[in-house]
Amino acid sequence: MRIGAGWDFHRLVPGRPLLLGGVELPCDRGEDGFSDGDVLVHAVIDALLGPAGLGDIGSNFPPGREDLRGISSMVLLERTMDMLRGEGLSVGNVDCIVALEEARILPHVPAIRASLARALGVAPARVSVKGKTREGLGDVGEGHDPDGARGRVGEAAHEGARPLDRHEEAALCAV
Ligand code: MG
Repeated sequence: MRIGAGWDFHRLVPGRPLLLGGVELPCDRGEDGFSDGDVLVHAVIDALLGPAGLGDIGSNFPPGREDLRGISSMVLLERTMDMLRGEGLSVGNVDCIVALEEARILPHVPAIRASLARALGVAPARVSVKGKTREGLGDVGEGHDPDGARGRVGEAAHEGARPLDRHEEAALCAV
C-alpha cells in the first residue's frame, strides 16, 4: 500500500469560475491559474503522482506549456490516472480537505465526490471531501493573498491517497 499527500493554493480572482473537483461552485470569484485552476484536483494529482514515483503536477504538466493553457484539470487528472494504470497502480481511496472562506462547499460535496470518483475509477464512497474555514485567521481567513492584494485565496489539502498495486486492493477494502 502506498499513501500520498498533496497540497495546493490558488488566489481567487474575479472573472474566473470557482472549480473544485471538476464542479463549478456559485461564487463571484474563481481560482487564478494557467490551467482552469481547480485547486482540489491539483492537490489530488500531486497526492497520486508522489507515491507512484511519477514526480509532481509541475513536472508533468508544467505551467507555460501552451497546449496546457486553460486546460481542464479533470483532463490532467485523467492523464494522471493513465500514468498510474501504466504502472499497474489503482486508487484505493482519497481523503480531501478544502479550506475556503468565501464559498460554502457542503451543498456541493456529493457532486464533487461523484466527479472525482468517476475520474479516479472508484466508488464515491472511496472519496471524502471535507470543508474547513480558517475562522478569519491567516491569509485565507483575511481574504488577502500573500502579496497583500485584495482577493480571497483557496486552499486544498489532500491526504491519504492510496494508489495500490492491484493485488493489494482486497486489503484496502478492509480499511
Ligand atoms: Mg495548482
